[in-house]
Amino acid sequence: MSALPFIDLKAQYAALKSDIDARIQRVLDHGQYIMGPEVKELETALAAYVGVKHCITVASGTEALLIALMALDLKPGDEVITTPFTFAATAEVIVLLGGVPVFVDIEPDTCNIDAALIEAAITPRTRAIMPVSLYGQVCDMDEINAIAARHGNIPVIEDAAQSFGASYRNRRSCGLSTWGATSFFPSKPLGCYGDGGALFTDDDTLAQAAREIRVHGQSARYTHTRVGVGGRMDTLQCAVVLGKLMRFDWEIEQRLRIGERYQQALAELDVERLVVRPDRNCVWAQFTLQVNRRATVQQALQEAGIPTAIHYPKPLHQQVAYSAYAKGQAFSHAERAAAHVMSLPMSADLSVPDQDRVIAAIRTIINM
Ligand SMILES: *Cc1c(COP(=O)(O)O)cnc(C)c1O
Repeated sequence: MSALPFIDLKAQYAALKSDIDARIQRVLDHGQYIMGPEVKELETALAAYVGVKHCITVASGTEALLIALMALDLKPGDEVITTPFTFAATAEVIVLLGGVPVFVDIEPDTCNIDAALIEAAITPRTRAIMPVSLYGQVCDMDEINAIAARHGNIPVIEDAAQSFGASYRNRRSCGLSTWGATSFFPSKPLGCYGDGGALFTDDDTLAQAAREIRVHGQSARYTHTRVGVGGRMDTLQCAVVLGKLMRFDWEIEQRLRIGERYQQALAELDVERLVVRPDRNCVWAQFTLQVNRRATVQQALQEAGIPTAIHYPKPLHQQVAYSAYAKGQAFSHAERAAAHVMSLPMSADLSVPDQDRVIAAIRTIINM
């Protein structure tokens, strides 16, 4: 049997081809490749979807996090509380601005930052809290916002690169704190055909700052009122996301259904499933389990034509680039997760027979 794709982007394009092709052609015809009309159109659509006042599209998810911190005027030596169990970009942008990432361990069952540990990490230098809604499940945003409010309204940036479309207490990821930052990297729940990202806020001043930072700090053409970056999302990628929005609600429903089906089918096996809290959902940017003998399980699955991935094999406090910031601290839950997590094929277009094939292979291998 042939190998399954880890994420089936080709099936998604086949389903949306005529609409996406037409939108791309329109951009090629009007020729406004930078800041063309599709940019504003997408920002308006996404702000309405999330339920916030402002959406600012940017060049990537990393750029979104960077610009969010720049708009907050992060200064060298400022501390930002975050999780060690995330993609490196989360801590990278803090360090790029001279800031200090302060790591706090995760909850073992959700793999999201443990909100109960945040307060003890706050110091007079804490300038922001940057939780990550990992795997597509929003972290404890209300608890985190309450802690931030108690300590002089510390800004909270949700790294929602994996959770766009997820809901939390009848609200949406990206619209839950000072800033929401997401990514349109192709494999994310809402992806484009290259790099892209977006920032969300209700704060007019921060939104204006981010719009200026995105274009080299210009408040008007050739008027540079602050230091910025070349951080725009190009018109073609905005057109692609507009096309993908046409069936995004359906895709989210599929992801929830497929995730639930995995959860139930794997319930009786000796694997640890992610716990999804009852007041939110998980859009499964990755469908991730924790398994023993991971390398053996991965190898056997690969032989059965089933690709897997590890998000992430090493927590940031153990990475050469970031270990100095951990000052020798151990984060045992992050370390344990890094040693056991394994993600399975997941996409809105994963068919029932293909999913059954994954489930059957895992059953056989885990019970061996
Ligand atoms: C993907 C990702 C990013 C970075 O997004 P890019 O668009 O690839 O720059 C940041 N944080 C997390 C948690 C991510 O998964």
